[in-house]
Amino acid sequence: MSTLPAAFIGHGNPMNALETNRFTDAWAALGRAMGTPRAVLAISAHWYIAATAVTAMARPRTIHDFFGFPQALFEFEYPAPGLPALAEEVATAAAPDWVGADHDSWGLDHGTWSVLTHMFPDANVPVVQLSVNAAQPLEYHVGLGRKLAPLREQGIFIVASGNVVHNLRRMDFSLEGRGYDWAERFDAAVTAAMTSDPSSLASLAGHPDYALAVPTPDHYLPAAYLAGLAEVAGEPCAVLAEGCELGGISMTSFSVGLSG
Ligand code: ZN
Repeated sequence: MSTLPAAFIGHGNPMNALETNRFTDAWAALGRAMGTPRAVLAISAHWYIAATAVTAMARPRTIHDFFGFPQALFEFEYPAPGLPALAEEVATAAAPDWVGADHDSWGLDHGTWSVLTHMFPDANVPVVQLSVNAAQPLEYHVGLGRKLAPLREQGIFIVASGNVVHNLRRMDFSLEGRGYDWAERFDAAVTAAMTSDPSSLASLAGHPDYALAVPTPDHYLPAAYLAGLAEVAGEPCAVLAEGCELGGISMTSFSVGLSG
């Protein structure tokens, strides 16, 4: 079995689930490039809880974890099956760190399905979600990413979904396709780190624009998983799509192992 690529996707607005644009085109192209994986392990910014957990149910529900969007988005369903065996594989890979098995609390949130509906529109690939543990520092998430690397050789596509820059209080709807200067600078700094030495991601907590770009860590930490996966692969990340939107959001996405 060939080794599957892994990716960090800047998912942005939930409406990306229903729309097509240059970002969703890039996600779709990634899906086509890899064929059909055995399953997807999705690490979503929107399951940000004080524990590391995986969805372990056979039929994860579609979670509509947002407000103020059109009815069509609330009616959207992504009925991909779960894969309880993969939930166990993740727990084994993470040991001795503990991974809880969630049977009835979560499901697939829009960080996962807004992206996967473009990559695997038939929802025919099983999906397991991994939470982002809010109680742990960035180094923990890089380390967990490293531990998950062997799954790439087992037919598992690992996709982390967040945004490198995510400041909803600093959005400006006149800045279509652009970011504030601080957002563009921080996005460029993360891109430089991920495409040269992903292990240097930790040093960006000291970047002068970090506080504005990462007011809360939930959307940023998924990038740490790809940094860990890239370290194990011994290769830097490639840029899958790049650019800021509406001032305070970066849609920049990265991949590992796409050419191989
Ligand atoms: Zn989000």
